[in-house]
Amino acid sequence: MLQIRVKPGIEDRIRGFFPWIYRPEIASYSRKPKKGELVVVRDFGGKFLGYGYINPDVSIAVRILSFDKKEPITPSLIKKRILEAYNYRKRLYINSNAFRLVHSEGDLLPGLIVDVYGEYAVVEFTTYGMTRFRDVVLEALVEILKPKGIYEKANLTAQKVEGIDAREGVVYGEVPEEVVIWEHDLKYLINIPEGQKTGFFLDQRNSRRFVRSLVEPGDRCLDVFCHTGGFALNMKKMGAERVVAVDLSELALEVGKRNEELNGLSGIEWVQANAFDYLRELDTKGEKFDVVVIDPPSFAKNKHAVPNALRGYKELCVRGLKVTKSGGYLAVFSCSFHITEQHLLEVLTEASYDVRRQVRVVAKTFQDKDHPWILQMPNTLYLKGVWVEVV
Ligand code: SAH
Repeated sequence: MLQIRVKPGIEDRIRGFFPWIYRPEIASYSRKPKKGELVVVRDFGGKFLGYGYINPDVSIAVRILSFDKKEPITPSLIKKRILEAYNYRKRLYINSNAFRLVHSEGDLLPGLIVDVYGEYAVVEFTTYGMTRFRDVVLEALVEILKPKGIYEKANLTAQKVEGIDAREGVVYGEVPEEVVIWEHDLKYLINIPEGQKTGFFLDQRNSRRFVRSLVEPGDRCLDVFCHTGGFALNMKKMGAERVVAVDLSELALEVGKRNEELNGLSGIEWVQANAFDYLRELDTKGEKFDVVVIDPPSFAKNKHAVPNALRGYKELCVRGLKVTKSGGYLAVFSCSFHITEQHLLEVLTEASYDVRRQVRVVAKTFQDKDHPWILQMPNTLYLKGVWVEVV
């Protein structure tokens, strides 16, 4: 097997369970590496650090799957990891039949995402190295979940970076175009082939639950970047009188409307608009809401995009504060690792100064627990939300 040695000083981080090795950190190779092949990682002196796979074409050249010398990477290790991931989710008692089964590094399976929607699973490969285990992964999913069907979703960004051949479609059994799942006491339609991500933003489950504790019957609520209505439906379910749900995607809004009907709800105002423009319009009209949720897509895919993303956030926070009535609540989310909780707090502080409104932090919420966050890997904590009361 290919062996690499890392430069002096890198070993401590790997012994601390950080599973990535960047290309410049590699001191030597036992021979020329091939894309996707397995590798034994050693410290500069030759001591064992871990087993991983390598892609010499990308900046994160090695990802480690096992820190245990007695546990080399074999098909049975991959299966064992998927089973462990499944058992962990069972212990969480997630109040839904849809959950993330495998969360890449968070489950020691870098490059693999598996989401379960009732009797169906969606799988995504985000690294070249993980695609070598495609068959094993599918076999394990069939054994563990006994699903009616499995769909492979092509992650285009990762495929471009890693050079994976794009594959998209049903890879096992049958998968209907739409699946109905339940979460808490609401149902959602999931369009697996057409939907964003694997079909649904599972990571916001606990925040969709949390918003319920803030909404009172008769309230006026605003769900900005609503996608298929995750927050809007929960607001309506709690008896909000007026719910406005805004998104740019026509398909997402269509599904949102059908979700409303599916749950016997009515009256949500679905608005197709650019959120920035629409918030400005609401502000100009002097509209005020009791609960406002702003859950934008990732504005910062890398660290170079942070300054621009922060300007976007600042504007969202200013507008958000302006349309929140006194005593009302505003939530702002970042789903990008690069826009941290600290960034959100700073931007909110600046915005609160600009609009001359004091804010009190009510809560912070994070990606739900089926998207595990590894303490030694800050990158695995990507979704953060700050909820404030606007005094
Ligand atoms: N809150 C949702 C998830 C939001 S994901 C839930 O709980 O399910 C982000 C959404 O922002 C996507 O649906 C995307 O279509 C939408 N979006 C992206 N850019 C936008 C823009 N400029 N204005 C409005 N919506 C936008």
